[in-house]
Amino acid sequence: MKILLFGKNGQVGWELQRSLAPLAEIVALDQEGADGLCGDFTDLAGLAETVRRVAPEVIVNAAAYTAVDKAESEPELAQAINARAPAVLAEEAGKLGAWLVHYSTDYVFDGSGDTPRAENAPTGPLSVYGRTKLAGEQAVAGCARHLIFRTSWVYAARGANFARTMLRLAAERDHLRVVGDQIGAPTGADLLADVTAHALRAVTGRPELAGLYHLAAAGETSWHAYACFVIEQAREAGRPLHVRPERIEAIPTSAYPTPARRPLNSRLDTARLRSAFGLHLPDWRDGVRRLLDELPAG
Ligand code: NDP
Repeated sequence: MKILLFGKNGQVGWELQRSLAPLAEIVALDQEGADGLCGDFTDLAGLAETVRRVAPEVIVNAAAYTAVDKAESEPELAQAINARAPAVLAEEAGKLGAWLVHYSTDYVFDGSGDTPRAENAPTGPLSVYGRTKLAGEQAVAGCARHLIFRTSWVYAARGANFARTMLRLAAERDHLRVVGDQIGAPTGADLLADVTAHALRAVTGRPELAGLYHLAAAGETSWHAYACFVIEQAREAGRPLHVRPERIEAIPTSAYPTPARRPLNSRLDTARLRSAFGLHLPDWRDGVRRLLDELPAG
């Protein structure tokens, strides 16, 4: 079997290089491409040609335009990377009869209410990023053999993410203000990659498992409580941080204006995934503790 992986150096792409390795030969590409193969999601003809040349049984798309605020001023580029390129992958995967794995986001929802949303809940993105990701999942669903994983608040030891930003700020400042009214589940790129590998094994010979699944760590928290957890754990581990836990202030979203609106309720109901693939999803704190152990000190 051959797997064609796009976005190999992103948070999730990096972990996929590890988790998919025992399944098949992997052709992994970043934006630069390699060996005459194109990994640039703004080059649609190049992408189609690459899929045809590699002729994989599975395509995994970890590439995306993920700069949520910047997308508000670059809607065309976000649409090209998050929607048009996945549409090309879906078309080419369909022709090959290949599986197409794709990742999406809770930002396809409007964030109203305070309960976890199931896959069939009405969408209503608040931002360019959310709209382009929704268009991307709709395009990918056009390929018969698709797996779409909607996730939330992704972190990894490598790459830019909230936990690493908080550690940096906590080392520089003695007072932090963090949004306390957006609720979701921080989810490790390693968990996403491991579940992807598990799901790909499970779908072999079972095309009826194709579909859209919510995939996030168990439990819920706010960005503020997440920041407190990260900083408390790091202090206990002896990291030199300026900020003391009581100096981390919870603020409402309205006090932290950003170009893109974000959903207040990012809770995802993962029952469908757990039942279809026989999975247990760990509490978000388990993965964040591992992250902190893995990050270099200081
Ligand atoms: P990252 O931002 O870490 O990685 C995205 C990857 O896409 C990078 O390797 C980036 O390459 C690549 N990329 C950007 N532009 C292009 C392009 N023109 N052509 C090819 N590749 C490009 O994202 P994550 O790993 O965190 O996200 C993985 C998936 O999960 C995405 O679909 C995202 O929408 C989704 N998701 C992420 C969340 C999060 O909190 N991060 C939350 C919910 C869903 P380069 O580094 O060279 O720019």
